Amino acid sequence: MDAKEITDALATVKDSYFNKDIITLGYVKGMTIGSDTLRFSLRLPAPLMPNHDELAQKCQEALKDVADIGKVEIKKDWQVQRLPSLNAPNTPNSLKGVKNIIAIASGKGGVGKSTVTVCIAEAFANAGAKVGILDIDVYGPSIPNMVGLGDHQLGGSQQGVLEPVEAHGMKIMSMGFLANKDTPVVWRGPIASQLVQQFLGGVDWGELDYLFVDMPPGTGDIQLTLSQAVPLTGAVIVTTPQEVAHTIAEKGLRMFQQVKIPILGIIENMAGFTPPGSDEIYHIFGEGGGSSAAEEFDLPLLGKISIKQELREAMDTGKFVDDDNIKAIASLIAVEAMAVVTNEELSPFAPQEMNLANNGQTLIIKWQDNVEHVISAFNVRYMCPCAHCVDEITGVKLIKEEDIPANVRIIESAPVGRYGVRFSFDDPSPGAGAGIFTFSLLRKMGEEAVEKASFDV
Ligand code: ADP
Repeated sequence: MDAKEITDALATVKDSYFNKDIITLGYVKGMTIGSDTLRFSLRLPAPLMPNHDELAQKCQEALKDVADIGKVEIKKDWQVQRLPSLNAPNTPNSLKGVKNIIAIASGKGGVGKSTVTVCIAEAFANAGAKVGILDIDVYGPSIPNMVGLGDHQLGGSQQGVLEPVEAHGMKIMSMGFLANKDTPVVWRGPIASQLVQQFLGGVDWGELDYLFVDMPPGTGDIQLTLSQAVPLTGAVIVTTPQEVAHTIAEKGLRMFQQVKIPILGIIENMAGFTPPGSDEIYHIFGEGGGSSAAEEFDLPLLGKISIKQELREAMDTGKFVDDDNIKAIASLIAVEAMAVVTNEELSPFAPQEMNLANNGQTLIIKWQDNVEHVISAFNVRYMCPCAHCVDEITGVKLIKEEDIPANVRIIESAPVGRYGVRFSFDDPSPGAGAGIFTFSLLRKMGEEAVEKASFDV
């Protein structure tokens, strides 16, 4: 058995989902060539990948023609890959162990978005993945009830860090933990947005393969806050089959497209009802809305879930649901999510490291290409692109150098999506810290600082 011949044979096996061969994709791990046995692991990038068995079978077939091939033992395992842009230095510390964040969204309430979130998350947890659910449905945080945590209330945090609650083998955090049955609270506007930030940055999520976010229905501030706060692997849209739900779901689709979040696909929920003892399907909520939306937007229809009494009862009593159809939907989500992960490279503009020195008066950025830039906080402050500092229409600079204290300091930085950062300065003038500094703007400033320094010499 010759190693090169073996690798060449395996390189003919293609993963049709990613349209690349399994050697290029790095699936073949830990190969040992014994005197009469070849052993290796076929490590896929997610659990529940629907083609795991098929790929193992294809490897066996491809290896048949290798000279002196003996017994071939293939161990099937998986390891979830991390979305590259989560590796950016401005990802909150609490998400340092999180590999993928997936939003579950819908155009309107009551379509079963939370039900789908719980069922899908459970399917992944059951397959061995480390899973969390963040419920930020401000209008009706229903996740706690669905996982048997209806009476849970958030205790005090330790040093500002909140612990998620364990249920059904998953880590749960919900806006519902902040209210109780007698005094439900609907969080709105800036407070809701602040809570979202806190749930992402202030919750000890630990190691997670997938963090599913149950979004509020519709399109609004919360969606925008989430999309700007962290890079998402993608969003899944839940809709019911009737035409109007489909039209509303479209709005959600367009919103995610606008904020450049990949849409992993559409799930049609409440698709028909078959009464016990009958073969007939009753289309109570109409037919085909999910399929037609998927077709129109050229998105995968991840699956259909019919109306099931067991599902409603399981959700009402916080019981675990084991359902092959839901597993199949989860496996398509795994495929779509990994397609995003393997295609995404960390933005070339995202820095490797960003540090403050000199008591916040100096910003040091190390870029992907190892170039390092040192920029004074004064210069960063002067270049603030917010509406107080630059006229939005004419582009004329409104802030003057003499308005800024010479020893101005950067006191905080917060990530903005996958493309930039927001700084807070200790300068009291209006607009201090309001501007978003894109990585490309910071790179340009760094290059100009270098040029200026060499000119001064
Ligand atoms: P949303 O999050 O979109 O507001 P929910 O997930 O809270 O919707 O679902 C609303 C109600 O419909 C819940 O009582 C839930 O148990 C029920 N439900 C959702 N999907 C199904 C289904 N496929 N079969 C039966 N009941 C369902």
